Amino acid sequence: MTLQFVGPDIPSAEDLANCIHCGFCLPSCPTYVATGQELESPRGRLHLISGIREGRIAATPRALEHLDLCLQCRACETACPSAVPYGRIMEDARASIMANPAAAQPRGWSLRAFALRHVLAHPARLRLALAAGRLYSRSGAQSLVRGHLGRLLPARLRRLESATPALTDAPFRSTGVLASPAQRRERVGMLLGCIHGELYPRMHEATVTALAHVDAEVVAPPEQVCCGALHTHAGDAETARALARRNIAAFEAAEVDAVIVNAAGCGAAMKEYGRLLRHDPNWRGRAERFASKVRDALEYVAGQDFGHDLGAVDRTVTLQDACHLAHAQRIREAPRAILGAIPGVAFTEMRHPDRCCGSAGIYSVVQAEMSAQVLETKMDAIAATGAGTVCTANPGCTLQIESGARRHEVAADVRHVIEVLAESIAAGRAPVGD
Ligand code: SF4
Ligand code: SF4
Repeated sequence: MTLQFVGPDIPSAEDLANCIHCGFCLPSCPTYVATGQELESPRGRLHLISGIREGRIAATPRALEHLDLCLQCRACETACPSAVPYGRIMEDARASIMANPAAAQPRGWSLRAFALRHVLAHPARLRLALAAGRLYSRSGAQSLVRGHLGRLLPARLRRLESATPALTDAPFRSTGVLASPAQRRERVGMLLGCIHGELYPRMHEATVTALAHVDAEVVAPPEQVCCGALHTHAGDAETARALARRNIAAFEAAEVDAVIVNAAGCGAAMKEYGRLLRHDPNWRGRAERFASKVRDALEYVAGQDFGHDLGAVDRTVTLQDACHLAHAQRIREAPRAILGAIPGVAFTEMRHPDRCCGSAGIYSVVQAEMSAQVLETKMDAIAATGAGTVCTANPGCTLQIESGARRHEVAADVRHVIEVLAESIAAGRAPVGD
């Protein structure tokens, strides 16, 4: 059976018609740069999607591989002079393939959607899955493998191991009121995310510190769930919609002035909840109001009076623009403004800072080869700066660049921008002489 687009999310003809085939997007596309193939470029993929939509091209598994190799980094959107909304076209295309009966979906796609739906969207199951990783890290086995033992592993296993984070810190699972500064200016809700607080609790701790520093009361509604970004990217729009409804209800009940997200991919998805629920008359309005309150943590802090009482942080820093911050949310100045205000930070730009690192949600797992190729280029750019710290704004980028640093032996400490700010806030509070 030949798959075609079905369901409520079929890419719109108007969106597709915006493409004037100029090719300006090609040099910005990591998969085109890596392969030189038109079918691995934004223009090629748009042509493919138009053809499938109109029934001129069969949506065979081979054709769909070209859609699957897309990182969904949206660099092509930034480059496009014709405002083609590539991100939503690709999301709609994947959702319209996945809306086919399960037996007709590409096997890899349905397996991936199944795992995301039945693990990531369920905190208890996810924590159980991570418990094995925690044991591996804390028992010392991970250090042994990363030392001499690793050389005995086959190359494929070694690569997989190097992509595994060290799960040594206690996870961040706190809910309720996380900070209540004396001079409360407003009340904000913080997204904890599905895996973020498990892998990088220090980022959440730093975000609470930075928000309190700008006099925001911080709450984390306990009813919140995964944002659904990975489900949307994988074409499972129904699970993404169900998660969005739960988050909207949770943050509405918390009566917050803003919803703060420190993972660029999650923030981009939540800013688009209005579109995600556009077909649902009971939720569309609520989703649009919710989306208007979503702020990336750096966007929010940079818009406040954050520069007071900062202490010196002695770091040479370069910045990897998270794709879903720079291209999806169009935020580039906020991280630079924050880093630029921290005393002691020496900032140096890398080559193509807004080019994807190859993380792209679960892309590094399902497209390991292309992900590694894209990462190699990124690690070369990082190494050329000589910076000892690489700043990011997304846990997926942190995970990927940490893995790249291990594989390519680049001595780099990978930190969210908000962590460096929190370090500076702490240094500003330390008694003089410390
Ligand atoms: S989203 Fe990224 S990988 Fe996909 S076509 Fe656009 S630039 Fe290329
Ligand atoms: S997506 Fe935009 S930049 Fe790329 S070919 Fe079409 S109009 Fe040109």
